[in-house]
Amino acid sequence: MAYATINPYTAEQLASFPTATDEEVEAAIDHADTAFATWKDTSFAQRAGILARVASILRERHTEFAKILTMEMGKLLTEAEAEVELSAQIIDYYVEHAEQQLQPRTLPSADYREGRAKLVYEPLGVLYLVEPWNFPYYQIVRVGAPQLMAGNTLLLKHASNVPQSALAFEKLFKEAGLPDGVFTNLFASHDQNELILSDPRVKGVALTGSEGAGSAVAALAGKYLKKSTLELGGSDPFIVLEDADVRKAAQWAVTGRHWNGGQVCVSSKRLIVVDAVYDEFLDAYRSGVAALKAGDPTDPETTLAPLSSRSAVDILGTQVDEAVKAGAHAETLGEPVPEHGAFYQPTILTGITTDNPAYTTEMFGPVTQLYRVADEEEALKVANGTPFGLGGSVFSSDSARAWKAASRITTGMVFINHPTGVKADIPFGGVNRSGYGHELIDLGIHEFVNIKVIAEP
Ligand code: NAP
Repeated sequence: MAYATINPYTAEQLASFPTATDEEVEAAIDHADTAFATWKDTSFAQRAGILARVASILRERHTEFAKILTMEMGKLLTEAEAEVELSAQIIDYYVEHAEQQLQPRTLPSADYREGRAKLVYEPLGVLYLVEPWNFPYYQIVRVGAPQLMAGNTLLLKHASNVPQSALAFEKLFKEAGLPDGVFTNLFASHDQNELILSDPRVKGVALTGSEGAGSAVAALAGKYLKKSTLELGGSDPFIVLEDADVRKAAQWAVTGRHWNGGQVCVSSKRLIVVDAVYDEFLDAYRSGVAALKAGDPTDPETTLAPLSSRSAVDILGTQVDEAVKAGAHAETLGEPVPEHGAFYQPTILTGITTDNPAYTTEMFGPVTQLYRVADEEEALKVANGTPFGLGGSVFSSDSARAWKAASRITTGMVFINHPTGVKADIPFGGVNRSGYGHELIDLGIHEFVNIKVIAEP
C-alpha cells in the first residue's frame, strides 16, 4: 500500500510518497509527546487564536484548498468548496465553545462541602487519528478541532489516496502558528498501527472508515487498553410515507444518494417507499437521477462526480452483479457516463429480498436500493433490517407521526423531511456496526479527555 495521488477523473498518477519507516513513526510519537508537555498548559485563548487563524486561512484560500480535494478524490469542486467552508465552521464552533464545554462542573453531593466536589476535564496526551478519503479535511477537523482545543496532540494517518490533502492540512496548521509536534501527518502503513497503539504515550485512537478497518484498529486498542471511537459505514434508510410531499422527497433522495459521488457514510442508500406513493415517487426519482450530468468535477455544470478510484468502481460493480445474481433487478439511468475516469452508471436496484446480500451491504456510489413496502410498519422493519445504525430519514407531512417513526429507527441520527445532515453544531455518531462514540459538539470534545473527580470533604 503506497500513498499516491491518482486523479480519479484523468486516471493520471500525479505524486507518490514513501511509507514512513518505523524509526520515523517512533520519532513522530516522541515529538508529539514532547509537544504535549507544553501544549496542554497553553490557555484556551492561545489555542483558539491559532485555530481561528486556521479557519480564516481556509476561507481566504478556499479554492486552493478545494482543488486539492477534487484532484485527489474526485469530488465536485463546488462540493469541495462546501467542505472547506464546513471545516472552517467546525473550527469556529470550537473556538467559541470549547472553553465553556471544558469548564469544571460542580457536583451536588451530600458528603462534601458545597462546591468542593468537582469534575475537571484534562487532556489525555497523544491521540492517533485514522481517517478516510471521502471528506479529507472535514474528517481531520471533526476530531482535530475539539481535541486540539482540549490540549491533546495528534498523529494523523490519512487514507493512502489523499496524501496531499493530509500534507496541506499539516502545512496549514503550521502556517497558523501551531507549535511543532502538536499535529503530525504520518504516512503510516496498516502494520504500523501496532507500533503506534502499543506505545504508552499514545492514549487513544479515533477511526473513521470501514467495518474492517474499525475492527482491526479497535482490536489493537483493546489489546493495549486504549480508548477508541469508531465512525464506520452505514446504509441509511430513507422512508417516504403516504402523506409526504412526494416530489420534494424524490428531489432530496436524488441529492441524498448522489452528493459526493454517492460516497458518503450517511448517503440515502436505501429508499423505502410505501405502496400508495411508490409509483409517483419512482417517476420523479427516475427523472431526477437521469438528469444528473457526469463529467469533469471541476466543471460547474457537472452534477455527478467520478468515484474515488477505479477499484471503487470495480467493487460497486461486483456488488451490483451479486445483487442481480441473487434476484434483484438493476435499471441504469441517464446519459452514458464517460468511459475514462472512475465513473459508475447511476443504477436503481429493486426486488431486493431479505436473503439478497445487497440487503445488508453498504454500497458506496450512485446505486440506489429501492424498496416498495405496504405501510409504515413494514417501512420501519426494512429500515431496521441491516447491521448498521448510522443515520436515516422519514418523510411525512405529519410532524408528530414522523417524530414517532424516528424514535423507532435504530440509528444514531434521524432527520425529518431531509437526508441525514452534516453540520458543525449537530453531533455525529452511530450504533451497532456503524461504530461507537460521538464526534462534534460537547460530546466529541469529551471523548478524549480525562474526566476527573476532585473532592474535598
Ligand atoms: P477504509 O478502507 O476503512 O479506510 C479508512 C482509513 O482506515 C484509511 O486511512 C485506511 O488506510 C485505514 N485502514 C484501512 N484498513 C486498515 C487496517 N486494517 N488497519 C489500519 N488502518 C486501516 O475506508 P474507506 O473505504 O476508505 O472509506 C469508506 C468507509 O468509511 C465507508 O464504509 C464509509 O461509510 C465509512 N465512513 C464513515 C464515516 C462516519 O462518520 N461514520 C464517515 C466517512 C466514511 P489506507 O487508505 O492506507 O488503507
